[in-house]
Amino acid sequence: MSGGDNVNKLVNLFEGEGAACDEFGCAIPGSEDGQEAGGETEAADSQAGLKAGAEAAGAEAGPKAETASARRAILPGATIGVLGGGQLGRMLAHAGNRLGYRFVTLDPTPDSPCGQTAAQIVAAYDDREAARELAQRSDVITYEFENVDAGVAEMLERESYVPQGSKLLYTTQHRLREKQAVEAAGAQVAPYAEIESLAGLQEAAARLGLPAVLKTATGGYDGKGQWVLRSEDELATAWEEASRVGTQLVLEKFIVFDKEISVIAARSPSGEVKTFPPAENIHVHNILHLSIVPARISDKVRAEAEKLAVSIAETLGAVGLIAVEMFLTADGELYVNELAPRPHNSGHYTMEACRTSQFEQHVRAICDLPLGDPSLLTPVVMANILGEHMEPLLEWMGEKDSAAEKLGVEVKVHLYGKAEAKHKRKMGHLNVLAPNVDAALEWIAQSKIWRV
Ligand code: AMP
Repeated sequence: MSGGDNVNKLVNLFEGEGAACDEFGCAIPGSEDGQEAGGETEAADSQAGLKAGAEAAGAEAGPKAETASARRAILPGATIGVLGGGQLGRMLAHAGNRLGYRFVTLDPTPDSPCGQTAAQIVAAYDDREAARELAQRSDVITYEFENVDAGVAEMLERESYVPQGSKLLYTTQHRLREKQAVEAAGAQVAPYAEIESLAGLQEAAARLGLPAVLKTATGGYDGKGQWVLRSEDELATAWEEASRVGTQLVLEKFIVFDKEISVIAARSPSGEVKTFPPAENIHVHNILHLSIVPARISDKVRAEAEKLAVSIAETLGAVGLIAVEMFLTADGELYVNELAPRPHNSGHYTMEACRTSQFEQHVRAICDLPLGDPSLLTPVVMANILGEHMEPLLEWMGEKDSAAEKLGVEVKVHLYGKAEAKHKRKMGHLNVLAPNVDAALEWIAQSKIWRV
C-alpha cells in the first residue's frame, strides 16, 4: 500500500459529492431533516450532575486535556457530545437519557433527528470553532459516522475526552488500512489489490479473476463508489469513472456468498468485550432491507463470527461499538467485508430484542460502565423503512393488524423524525418480534409496506 493517504482529502471528497450519509445516520447538509424541537436544557442540574459524576469517578475538574489513553468512568449526570445529528445519534440519546446522561450534538441541519432529543450546535462537521464548543459543553465525545474530519478529530481528542480515539477512525476510513487491520486480527478478507493505473487494474483482474469489485478506498457507502466488473471489456470504463473520484482504489475478488452477516462488538476502555448475536442481513439495491436474528447459520459459524468480532475489537483497541460485516460462503468460510466503529443499522434489532440495546451498550462502553448483557430475548426481524415506504407505513399504523395477531408477532415502530421522505432515504425501521423468524418474515411478506 502506498503512503500519502490523506484523510482530509477523504472528507473533501465526501462533502464535495454532497453525499447523503444516511447509512451513517448523519443528517444531509441542506436537507430538511427533523420536525419537532425537544431536548432538555437544565444547565444548573447538568453542572451539578457533571461535577458529581466527575468527582465520583475521581476525574479532575478544569481543562479537559486527557486523551483517549486515559481511563475514567463518566457517570450519569454528565453530558455526552455527539458529532453528527442523525438517527444513530438520536437513538443513542434516547438510550443515554434513560440512564441519566445529557446530550449535545453537532450537526449542520437545524432540528436534526438527534437535535430533536438533545441540545444542538448547528454547524458544519469541519467547523473547528463549533467542535471546540462541543468539547466545552461535553464530558465525553462520541461520533455517529466515521468520516469525521481528521483535524476536528485530533482537536477534539486534544481538548476533550474521546475514548474511541482517532486511530480507529483513521483505520476504518480507508479500505486498505481496514483490510490490513482485519488481517492482523486473524480474520480473512476477500483477496484484494491496490489499483493505481489501468494496467494495474488489468493485471489485478487477471490475477484475482473476474467477477471482481472495484471500490474507492474512501467515502463509499451503500454500494456507492463501487463497480462490479464481470468481463475484461468493462475494465477501461470502470477505471475511467473510478479514477475520476480522486481517491485510492482497491480491487476485490467477488465472493460468491451464501449469506451476509454482521456481528456488533462492544469494548470498554477497561477492556471488557461483549458481542451481540450475529444478524443475517438482506440488502436490496445495496441498502440494508432486513436483519434476521437469530441468523440462520450453524452454531460453529455463529461462534466463529463472534470470535472474529472480539479479536478485531481487541486488536484494533476499539472503544465503544464496532460492527463487523462478513460474507459467509456455502462451505462455511467467513470473509470480513467492512468495519464500522459506531452503532450500526444491522444492530437496530437489539432495541427490543436484546436485554441491552446496541445504543445503551455504546453509552456504557464509552463511559466505561460495566457492559450490559447482550443476550437475545426473542426472535426478531428488523426491516428498514425508506422514504418510499412511509405512505403505506402510516396507512398501516392507523389500522388494526389481524395478520400480526394471527402470526403472534409484535411490531415495534421507530421513526427518525426526518421531515422529507426522500426516495431511498432511511426514515425509520420496524422490529418485528415473533415466536420464530419465519413468522416475522411471513408478516413482512404479507405486508403492503415494502411493495412500492
Ligand atoms: P460495501 O459497501 O463494501 O459494504 O458493499 C456493498 C455490498 O456490495 C455488500 O453488502 C455486498 O452485497 C456487495 N459486495 C461488496 N463487496 C463484495 C465482494 N467482494 N464480493 C461480493 N459482493 C460484494
